[in-house]
Amino acid sequence: MPPSQPGKNQVFFGTFIHAKKFGELEYLHNTAICVDVSGKIVAIEPNCNQQKAVETVYARLGWSLDTVAISVARDHRQFFFPGFIDTHVHAPQYPNIGVFGKSTLLDWLNKYTFPMEASLSSLPKARRVYTRCIRRTLAHGTTTAAYYATIDVNATNLLADLCFSMGQRAFVGRVCMDHLGPEYYIDESPDHALAATRATIDHIRSIDSNFEIVSPILTPRFAPACSVETMRGLSELQKQTQLPMQTHISENVNEVELVKELFPDSRSYADVYDTHGLLNEKMILAHAIHLTEEEADLIAERKAKIAHCPCSNSALTSGIARVRWLLGKGIQVGLGTDMSGGYSPSILEAARQAKLVSNHLAVPGGRSDDLSWEEREEAKLSVEEVLYLATRGGAQVLGLANKVGVFEVGKQWDAQLVDLGTVPDEVVEDDQAIHGNVDVFGWETWDERVAKWVFNGDDRNTKKVWVQGRLVHVQTYMY
Ligand SMILES: [Zn+2]
Repeated sequence: MPPSQPGKNQVFFGTFIHAKKFGELEYLHNTAICVDVSGKIVAIEPNCNQQKAVETVYARLGWSLDTVAISVARDHRQFFFPGFIDTHVHAPQYPNIGVFGKSTLLDWLNKYTFPMEASLSSLPKARRVYTRCIRRTLAHGTTTAAYYATIDVNATNLLADLCFSMGQRAFVGRVCMDHLGPEYYIDESPDHALAATRATIDHIRSIDSNFEIVSPILTPRFAPACSVETMRGLSELQKQTQLPMQTHISENVNEVELVKELFPDSRSYADVYDTHGLLNEKMILAHAIHLTEEEADLIAERKAKIAHCPCSNSALTSGIARVRWLLGKGIQVGLGTDMSGGYSPSILEAARQAKLVSNHLAVPGGRSDDLSWEEREEAKLSVEEVLYLATRGGAQVLGLANKVGVFEVGKQWDAQLVDLGTVPDEVVEDDQAIHGNVDVFGWETWDERVAKWVFNGDDRNTKKVWVQGRLVHVQTYMY
C-alpha cells in the first residue's frame, strides 16, 4: 500500500457534482459520501445531514464518530468534483510553459524542448522541475497524469518516486527516441532504448508493486523519432507486460509529411503504428488533428484512445481536432495539457479551450466549411461535455474507468473541493481570503455556477485535493 492513506475512515458532506454520462452532469445535494481507510467509496447517502449520517450510515458501516474524519462543502459556493485527469503531459517541459514564441512543432522541439529535456539528466535540476510540476498540477486539481519523462533512466525513476511520495496517481514513461533527434539527446540504439525502458519498469515495480498509484507506460516519442526495431521491440514488450502505451499522432502538417517521407511503404501515419504492432486498446494517441477518415476508422477498430490537447494545438498553430467526429466513430477521448506545447498546467483550462476550439469548427470559412449549418453546430462541445472529457473521458483513455472519474460506490476517492468565491464589496485590511476570479451572487442555478467555474475558474477555486482518500493539496494563503 502507498505511504499515503489517512488512517481513518472519512465522510464528505454537501453538494457533489459529476458527469453522469456524456453531456449530462448529476448534482447530488445534501449528500454524504463515505470513504474507507483504503480510499475507496463505500457508501453514498443522498438527502442526508451529518446527524442522519451518524445515526444510519455509520451504524450500517460499523463506524464510530472517533474513527471518522469529516469534510464539508459549505453553502451554495462549494462542491466536490472528481479529480481532473491529464491524459498527456510532459513533466520535464514544465519550466517552458508559455515559452514558445512563434514556433511550430518541429522547430519548437529543437529550440525549446530537447535542450530542456536533455538538461534534466542533472538529478538536482530534475528534482526541482518535477517537484514543482507535480505540486502545480495537484494544485489545479489534477489527480491523475500520464507523464512523458525524458530518455534519462535515473531522472524518469525520480519522477515516479516523486509522484508516489506526493500522492499523485501517475503513468510515467521513459521516452524512446533512437532514430531522429539531436546528437546530444538520443538513444544510442534500439537495444539501449528497450533496456532503459525495462529498467524504469523494474524501478516502478519496486516502489509500487501493483502499480496502484504509479504505473510505467511505454513511450515511443513519435514515429519519426523511433526506429522500426524500437517500435517492434516496444510492441513485444507491451504484449508481455500488458502495460499502457502513449505517443503522438498527426499533430502538425509538416510532421505528417515527414512521416510520409520516412515510411514510404505505409498507407498513413496511423498505419505506421499499426504495422509495427503499436495500435491497440492500450495506446493513447495525442492530438490526432489531421487524421483521414480511413485513419480514424482504423484507430476506432483497434480501440486506441485519443488525448485531445486544445491549448497546445492553438499555441503551436497545429490545428483543431474534431472531437465530435472522433467520438462519433466510437473512439474514447480525454483531455491533455500537453505542457509545454500547451501553455497551462490546468485541465480546467484545457476543458475551456476544448469548448472554444470546438466553436471554431462551426465558424463559416473554417475547417467544417463543407458541412451543413446543422453539422457545424453539432461540432460544438458543451460545458457538460468537456467536463466529462476532463474526468470520465480521461479515465477511459487511461484504462481507469473502473477506478476513478465519477462518484460511485467501489470507486476511489480522487476528488477536489471547489469553492466559487466573491470579490469583497470594499477593501478589507489584512484580508486572508483568496477570492479567485469567479463571482457568485447567489441567484445562479447550479448549471450556471458550473459554467462560471469552467470559463473563469482557476486554481484559486481548488481548495483541497484528494487521491485515493489521501489529502494531497490544501490551498494556503500565499501572499
Ligand atoms: Zn506531447
